[in-house]
Amino acid sequence: MDFVISNATVVTMNAEREVLREAEIVISDRRIVKVGPPTRGGKNGVRQSIDARGRVVVPGFIHGHLHACQTLCRNRADGLELLDWLRERIWPFEAAHDAESMRASADLTFLELIKSGATGLLDMGSVRHYDQVFESARDCGIRITGGKAMMDHGQGLPAGLRESTEASIAESLGLLERWHGQEGDRLRYAFAPRFVLSCTEGLMRQVGELAKKHGVRIHTHASENPTECDVVREKTGMDNVAYFDSLGMLGPHTTLAHCVWLTANEHRLIRESRTCVCHCPASNLKLASGYAKIPEMLAEKMSLSLGSDGAPCNNNLDMFVEMRLAALIHKPRSGPTAVTALQVLEMATLGGARAIGMEQEVGSIEVGKRADLSLIDLVGAHATPKGEDLVSQLVFAGRSSDVTDVMIDGRLVMKNRELTTLNEGQVLAAAERHASRLAELIS
Ligand SMILES: [Zn+2]
Repeated sequence: MDFVISNATVVTMNAEREVLREAEIVISDRRIVKVGPPTRGGKNGVRQSIDARGRVVVPGFIHGHLHACQTLCRNRADGLELLDWLRERIWPFEAAHDAESMRASADLTFLELIKSGATGLLDMGSVRHYDQVFESARDCGIRITGGKAMMDHGQGLPAGLRESTEASIAESLGLLERWHGQEGDRLRYAFAPRFVLSCTEGLMRQVGELAKKHGVRIHTHASENPTECDVVREKTGMDNVAYFDSLGMLGPHTTLAHCVWLTANEHRLIRESRTCVCHCPASNLKLASGYAKIPEMLAEKMSLSLGSDGAPCNNNLDMFVEMRLAALIHKPRSGPTAVTALQVLEMATLGGARAIGMEQEVGSIEVGKRADLSLIDLVGAHATPKGEDLVSQLVFAGRSSDVTDVMIDGRLVMKNRELTTLNEGQVLAAAERHASRLAELIS
């Protein structure tokens, strides 16, 4: 026994969606070996313990779509729609990155994620410097599946982001070779062709083949904005998802961010192929993209996760913010019972685990799974009175400041609100310094 969490209220997210009271969680060698009533008598060999009386333990949140490379551009890209936002702000900014600023951006991202109870993410990088994102994840202990953005085509691309098809594939394979499966499988590679408008057909086709050959995920964007969908149709003669289907890219190993403007045919293709969708409500609202048909997707049991997308289109990286929005924004169209708190928490945990292809390993608090979990202290005015439904309280009224402890792969990365693997003051100072430098470079 390495670790015991005692006297906890545990939101297990197991098949029965049980909430256990006064329960004990025992962790050994990175995995959960017991969840249930406390064992009487001595606990021989326990190296560490937490008395979680009064606190709630939840599976760590997993963002299904994020760009750690964009976090230093937070608060510098408001008031634009997707294609202008990319061309005027995001691409010049990403192109200006060097290795040091990328590391600062990743450190800041993971700091914010951990402090808000997230234990994992599916990430899309910029074209260059993805080693720095993996190095940051390796050092801070977060679980990441991610890859460099692939961009061998498109208008308005700064020179720093343009790459040949061959170079894009070669660099992706190099990163896969160096990082996939490292740190006891905590770091995983995913091919990340940016979106249809940034990639040639040849690149997309090779990604479809290589992902299957290497058994890794595909992570891309689809049908986020009506203008994007029109230009994709002009370019390919097909809608986004039908195009991916024609190139052999769909399946449970693929996660598509957004899926706001799906046709009925695309909706069917996603459902039948069990392709994962990541809902990003804040991003879809801020870029004026629209509302994904989440109630319809839930009714058809499609595989859904939740993500904050990049900091410049949110501007938070906080799963509590996304959960609250996901639970609220569909009600005016679909009624007050559409998208329940439990469905939202499923998206943030079990759905995130599917988005990274690790549903057998993480996403719930069950014996045999990796110990990725967060402790939450629901006290104060916003959490009083408690009411009957703990999941509802977490989703509608929970805040990231309620998170006290975070464990990833059996290791405490935040304890009593103190980070154990990141120096918060240094991370914030470096982020501010590099953000100003990059802003000056592109001004
Ligand atoms: Zn995105």
